[in-house]
Amino acid sequence: MDKIYLERYEYLGYARYICTSCNHCTSKMGISYCSIKMRGCCSYFPKFELIDIHRMVKSVDGLQVLKRIVDNPGTVIYNYYLHAKGYFDREGYLEYLKNGPEDDGIKDKTIFFRACPFVKSGYGCTLPPVYRNYVCNFYICDEVMSNVDKKEVMQQYIEERSRYARWVEWENMSLERILSEHHLNFRCDFEGTIKLLQEIPLDIYEFPALEEINVIGMNEKDA
Ligand code: SF4
Ligand code: SF4
Repeated sequence: MDKIYLERYEYLGYARYICTSCNHCTSKMGISYCSIKMRGCCSYFPKFELIDIHRMVKSVDGLQVLKRIVDNPGTVIYNYYLHAKGYFDREGYLEYLKNGPEDDGIKDKTIFFRACPFVKSGYGCTLPPVYRNYVCNFYICDEVMSNVDKKEVMQQYIEERSRYARWVEWENMSLERILSEHHLNFRCDFEGTIKLLQEIPLDIYEFPALEEINVIGMNEKDA
């Protein structure tokens, strides 16, 4: 039976929700009509904010991940975040629209034709979990969430995710304020910004323990 549970990386004050249903995704969000199959809901183009980059600059491994993100051809560098754009099959999407898309409850049909630059077909994410952003690490689709055996525990997962998201927002604002006081940002001085982030100690967030949940009644289908 599939499960949802919390994995903590205490030395970095970080964590993720693991959902084993993702290994054989059957959700609408995981449908792919593009060439990159079996990629779950990794149609998303991730944004790496200051809090994520702050974790990366603390180790050689993290700096290598940062280099991969910067070197990705679709990455756009903003003052205080990086946006890693990936694959989009525009022609396939336009053809799909012409033929009348299914009424599947998904408003943004581009997701069926997109893939994150870091997802590998049939394998999943190629970034180590500690360097993924919180959307990647805490997202669980509605279809899975509505098929669990302990709804009240699922609610705790949702509340803890919201609490962490508020903390992320606060941390990003604090780091931005420090950089701005030093007249630094990624666009004007990338190396200088990384150097200052390396000097700022990481704030450690303490995740509470969460009970494991079973996922029930999800039917498998090809994505
Ligand atoms: S969260 Fe849902 S849509 Fe995303 S990979 Fe897991 S099962 Fe698939
Ligand atoms: S960074 Fe990894 S987990 Fe996040 S969307 Fe890309 S492949 Fe998926």
